Amino acid sequence: MPMSQSFQDRLFPIVEKIAEHYGTPFHIYDETGIRETGANLKKAFAGIDGFREYFAVKALPNKRILQIMQEMGFGFDCSSIPELIMSRQVGGRGEDIMFTSNNTSREEFLFAEQDGGCILNLDDITLIDKVPNFPELVCFRYNPGPKRTGNVIIGNPVEAKYGVTHDQVVDAYRRARARGASRFGLHTMVASNELDYTYMVETARMVLEIAEMVESELGIRFEFVNIGGGFGIPYKPEQSPLDLGAMSGEITALFDSFRERHGYAPRMVMESGRYITGPHGCLVTTAINHKDIYRKYIGVDACMSSLMRPALYDAYHHISVVGKEHLPKSEVCDVVGSLCENNDKFAVQRELPPIQEGDLLAIHDSGAHGHAMGFQYNGRLRPKELLLSTDGTVELIRRAETVEDYFATQDYRQDVFIPAG
Ligand SMILES: *Cc1c(COP(=O)(O)O)cnc(C)c1O
Repeated sequence: MPMSQSFQDRLFPIVEKIAEHYGTPFHIYDETGIRETGANLKKAFAGIDGFREYFAVKALPNKRILQIMQEMGFGFDCSSIPELIMSRQVGGRGEDIMFTSNNTSREEFLFAEQDGGCILNLDDITLIDKVPNFPELVCFRYNPGPKRTGNVIIGNPVEAKYGVTHDQVVDAYRRARARGASRFGLHTMVASNELDYTYMVETARMVLEIAEMVESELGIRFEFVNIGGGFGIPYKPEQSPLDLGAMSGEITALFDSFRERHGYAPRMVMESGRYITGPHGCLVTTAINHKDIYRKYIGVDACMSSLMRPALYDAYHHISVVGKEHLPKSEVCDVVGSLCENNDKFAVQRELPPIQEGDLLAIHDSGAHGHAMGFQYNGRLRPKELLLSTDGTVELIRRAETVEDYFATQDYRQDVFIPAG
């Protein structure tokens, strides 16, 4: 089931008032749902000593949301300087932050080590010599290549640009140790939006096996293994959610068995984004036009600058027409924005109840990789973000972009340079 029923029950009765107060379009996030999912995740993996989720900041990079993650005891998974800044602004320090960049620049390494540093997760062996001040604690991203077949979004590991290969992994740690590292972690990320829990169990098995192999070659012990993000959510009504209970049970057993064989076990870390916030957000937009040509179209006041996933991945996002949830879905239409791009569609040939101009549409599951992926192409600006708090109040947590924001980068001190002079 997309967007939890309890979020719908909290939001839909008040959404018209919210729309009246703030204007549409907006993304709205459900604090209650986010906290419940966070608590369930912690409970599920409580059997693994030191389990910790590092929220993948790129999924929902908003300080107010990161504050909630911080309150739940989560760390932050970052891959850019602005994401590091944001995580530190909400209090993340040192080992609360995992810096999982790729194609990393010197500037990024220098920034990462400041302000209490972070856990450096290196994407390649050639980066070992490029780290300006090598940290005590280091981690590598492992790419299993042909040993795993990838899932749909992230693709086949052999074709993925990330990580060190199976043949490089022992050498990577040997060289890191030669540069002074004495504490170690191991990371992988081989799935995206995976709903088959057994895939995640296999990932946990894989990182533990690699940890075992490196330990036997080099005699180092791993403090943690990171199984990455990629836990899926059901975007389509007929999909079932990830079986968290079965998954955590089987993964916990793998750690127990590691402990029996070695007398210790690494901590387990994960860096989910979508799973934590995806179903707990929706994009609320107003129907402003309708059009009957070869197909029926409903034009709304949001466009793909607010939510790119349908255009980018052909992703399905369920749509509720507020107040008409129980009416028969008697019409077939495309729900479109106003970008001059024919893929600016939130839904294609979707069965929906009859929609009148002025109706509010809730586009489900925009809580991860939604607003964050927005852009300004065609002069379409990013919308505001709201938080429905646990106490029932609604809070503006990001204002909408303005035309002034749009022009800001063309407002600069004149800089004319004559290279031939
Ligand atoms: C994007 C990303 C994540 C989060 O992925 P989700 O699908 O949102 O769980 C985690 N780790 C890394 C390295 C990523 O690039």
